[in-house]
Amino acid sequence: MTRFEQELKNNVFVSSFCTRCDKHVWPPSDMCNSCFGNVIWRPVTRTAKLIEFSSKGDEVFGIVEFEGSIRVMGRIMTASALQIGQMLNLTECNFDGKAKFVLAPIV
Ligand SMILES: [Zn+2]
Repeated sequence: MTRFEQELKNNVFVSSFCTRCDKHVWPPSDMCNSCFGNVIWRPVTRTAKLIEFSSKGDEVFGIVEFEGSIRVMGRIMTASALQIGQMLNLTECNFDGKAKFVLAPIV
């Protein structure tokens, strides 16, 4: 299990970050994909912008973007209509064979 996956299991969302390039390395990796240097693991701000979404039955899934560059697919818990570009809170993350993200609109 990678550092990224271990942290997710504890409801902590971290990303690999290259201090030399000053950018997130995403998808998470032990090595920077630009300079091949070592990365550090940094907590990601738990607010995300909604990029797109779709619903399946009464479940809503969407692609959300953290810190302007990290895009993940997550489940969105909402009782009201969503709008592209609105901000969401990461309420829960987990790892269960794959990364799981649960978000809710900021009220
Ligand atoms: Zn780098």
